[in-house]
Amino acid sequence: MSQVTFHARPHAGVWHVHCFFLRDFVMNAERTNRGFSLVEMLVTVLVLGMVIAFSVPAFQSFGNTHRLHGATLNMSENLRVLREKAMATGQSQTMHFGTTPYPPGKTWLYHVHNGISVPAGWDLPRGITFQTIGINPTFDKTGRTQGGATGMIVLRNRRGERDTVNILASGMILVQ
Ligand SMILES: [Zn+2]
Repeated sequence: MSQVTFHARPHAGVWHVHCFFLRDFVMNAERTNRGFSLVEMLVTVLVLGMVIAFSVPAFQSFGNTHRLHGATLNMSENLRVLREKAMATGQSQTMHFGTTPYPPGKTWLYHVHNGISVPAGWDLPRGITFQTIGINPTFDKTGRTQGGATGMIVLRNRRGERDTVNILASGMILVQ
């Protein structure tokens, strides 16, 4: 400010053009220090609104993609653990997938189902559904699928993105 006062003061009785404009500029800046005008406030709100409008959908899509990947990885891990259980116990293990929850009273969209026993099951995250249920695998004590069955489970999210869990006859579980 002291510099401004110095420049704003007429020098030897004449205004330098440069100093004149500088003074004008600085005085304008001082005026705005009193607060925000309504227009400035509206512009700020508008810009903020645009920033939020553009970033929220991007953030949601980020969440959708991550939920899909997370659901797929969880499912493949559950299948691998089930296969290892079959090999460790010598008892065949079956996984069932479904578009409606099972058993009654549970929200499970896929579950372990051996005989009449349903010892475990899992939900899918919000917005994640089955696109394709190509196999309800049974792993035998060798870790292979019963009858050499092979097939894929495809998950999708609300944006139509898809992830695939491939189950091979060898019992290998691949995520694509
Ligand atoms: Zn079942």
